[in-house]
Amino acid sequence: MAKSKGPYCGGALRHREGTCERQAGAGTDHKGYGRCSWHGGSSPNGSQSAAAQRMQAETDRLLHKYDAPAVTDHLEALQRLAGRALALEEVIGERVNALRSIRYTDEKGAEQLRAEVAVLERAMDRAGRLLVDIARLNIEERLARVTEQQAEMVKKALGKTLAEMGMPAAERRDAMARLGGHLRAVS
Ligand SMILES: [Zn+2]
Repeated sequence: MAKSKGPYCGGALRHREGTCERQAGAGTDHKGYGRCSWHGGSSPNGSQSAAAQRMQAETDRLLHKYDAPAVTDHLEALQRLAGRALALEEVIGERVNALRSIRYTDEKGAEQLRAEVAVLERAMDRAGRLLVDIARLNIEERLARVTEQQAEMVKKALGKTLAEMGMPAAERRDAMARLGGHLRAVS
């Protein structure tokens, strides 16, 4: 078999040393992520971990710019943050829509959803830490201010996303209160 382009399945080979070099997710409904169909990719665990990997990759791509080492314009960075939070909501919304057809049908759908919610929480956590980091920078208050309007926009987007993902109202309120705290820290 011709060697495919990575990322690879990476599953352990049964009859010799090494790992599988079929394309990640080959023969499954999650091409490009996780194990191939010969190495457990179609099992509930395989599907779940592929979904989490995919979600992680997408949010990492989206949040990558947060890690840029030199932020020279802090006002611009803060303004971009509000936009990124909305973009994140869109990416996650798409994933949720893709999952919606299976989420109530079986345990696998529920597990997959939980995995994605965990990734969302990590992404929001990173965004929150970034806000705190920016707040610690000694920048002019005038430049550091996140407007009330931007804060409301971000909170609304987060609340809507979490509601769509089926997070219980109490946890949703907690998440929004925490985000509010982070936003106040920089306003
Ligand atoms: Zn494989």
